[in-house]
Amino acid sequence: MHELGIVTEIVSVASDRARALGTERVTRLVLEIGKLSTVLPDAVRFCFDVAAEGTPLGGAALEIREVAGKGRCRACSSIVVMERPVARCTCGEFDLEWLSGTQVQIVEMEVV
Ligand SMILES: [Zn+2]
Repeated sequence: MHELGIVTEIVSVASDRARALGTERVTRLVLEIGKLSTVLPDAVRFCFDVAAEGTPLGGAALEIREVAGKGRCRACSSIVVMERPVARCTCGEFDLEWLSGTQVQIVEMEVV
């Protein structure tokens, strides 16, 4: 499970931001996870409490927003909304260039 490493990094980034804001306590963290990323939201939730313990994020509420990806069809240049890594353009083509959807990022955070 590679999510623990990713969650540890997110916790570290969020902790640094909290300290930069002059606080040692984050109460809520909102993450955006693209549906084309290899990161599983359930695994992130599972790792979060462990990774956050002893940091400003200890006890923080975690909210995960899953966002669909976007791809451009290499055959007809249409933009296709991608709910999963394999998607099909309305023209029948599967060869899509991924434009977004692989991101794992902090979109909001609440501090005390
Ligand atoms: Zn197409």
